[in-house]
Amino acid sequence: MRKPLIAGNWKMYHTPSSGAAMLKELAPLVKDAAADVVICAPATHLAQAVAVTDDTNIAIGAENMHWEAEGAYTGEISAAMLLDLGVKYVILGHSERRQYFGETDETVSKKGEAAVNAGLIPIICVGETKEERESGQALTVIEKQIADSLAFWNGKSEIVIAYEPVWAIGTGLTATGDDAQEVICHIRSLLKKAHGEIADQIRILYGGSVKPATIGELMTQPDIDGALVGGASLKADSFSQIVNF
Ligand code: PEP
Repeated sequence: MRKPLIAGNWKMYHTPSSGAAMLKELAPLVKDAAADVVICAPATHLAQAVAVTDDTNIAIGAENMHWEAEGAYTGEISAAMLLDLGVKYVILGHSERRQYFGETDETVSKKGEAAVNAGLIPIICVGETKEERESGQALTVIEKQIADSLAFWNGKSEIVIAYEPVWAIGTGLTATGDDAQEVICHIRSLLKKAHGEIADQIRILYGGSVKPATIGELMTQPDIDGALVGGASLKADSFSQIVNF
């Protein structure tokens, strides 16, 4: 039985102090949640976010990291640095990083390996563009992203996968439960083919304009284990409604 997981992705929103205030407001609203609750925040917010959620059921994640353990990589952050702060998760391969910062399946895999070796749980994002979906390429694109972004994975360490169709992120367009289920079920069958029964324990999330009004239908699908939530994770009210779907 997979425990649902609802993760927020703050992107480049909030300041450290407004984020900390939001987390203080959120904590009592999600304290009895049946799902694991994660907030992924910008690097500058992490220390304060970990401190204010210390005695709560909210775990903190980062939005990116570098694959090297240390070195002359100005501006970058390592897995060990995140771990030392008390961070538990890290988003890897978000479509905005793929689109604007040159993230590739190969760099996602290198980062994934560094993350699990350090003891972080990576949330690995995959998803097709609007053009790819409209030309019937969605499943082929996902197959390649899964094979190459997860090249590092030995089938043992804990990972989370987020299926985030690019056309649904920040657009207000949510995939229907059936469409998301089709792709997520396909991802699970790919994992099963490559790694066997462990695939039944891997949590696969849906992401793309998830709102309090849409989470319910998504969570009725047998393979959807939760959500990665952008815009609606910024406010305690909307995010707590999603967590308590
Ligand atoms: C995201 O940033 O991963 C995301 C899904 O954003 P939104 O919920 O705003 O579409």
